Amino acid sequence: MDCKDFIAMISEYETGELSADLRREAQQHLAQCPGCGTELRRFWETMALCRDSMDASLSAKEALSMVSSVSRVLLESHEPVFGPILTISDLSRYLRTSVDVIEDYLHEIPCFELGGQLLFRKEKVDEWIAKREDSFAFHLLRSQVERESHDTASDRAEQKPRTLYA
Ligand SMILES: [Zn+2]
Repeated sequence: MDCKDFIAMISEYETGELSADLRREAQQHLAQCPGCGTELRRFWETMALCRDSMDASLSAKEALSMVSSVSRVLLESHEPVFGPILTISDLSRYLRTSVDVIEDYLHEIPCFELGGQLLFRKEKVDEWIAKREDSFAFHLLRSQVERESHDTASDRAEQKPRTLYA
């Protein structure tokens, strides 16, 4: 379960409507995600506010739609806090890309398999990013040098030979 899943079922989690499996997954996620812990507390506060301001004329349906619009706002504002181990969907959100793109780079992103699930150490991913930054900087530098030496070569072809050692 990731943050998006957790937030999406936060009201069911609170009202005990989740299946035992989902509830366990939600608890596991909550144990390792401080961000969702904060969202859960915010959810309680919001619920308390709703209860205080709700009058008897509000139908159960209206109350429910109020709660689900609150969850939607939470979902949109939630910036996930990642623990040391990332799933592939965590990683895609961490790197602001899609799971498909991550899959294209699996041969070079450090990862490991556990219980049939592909996992990533955030620390190793950060090292991999640093390597990519270095090689990108090198690539930029090299294309700049190549451009300059190309310019020099065409200068030589067009102009009279320069005396290099005056
Ligand atoms: Zn979370």
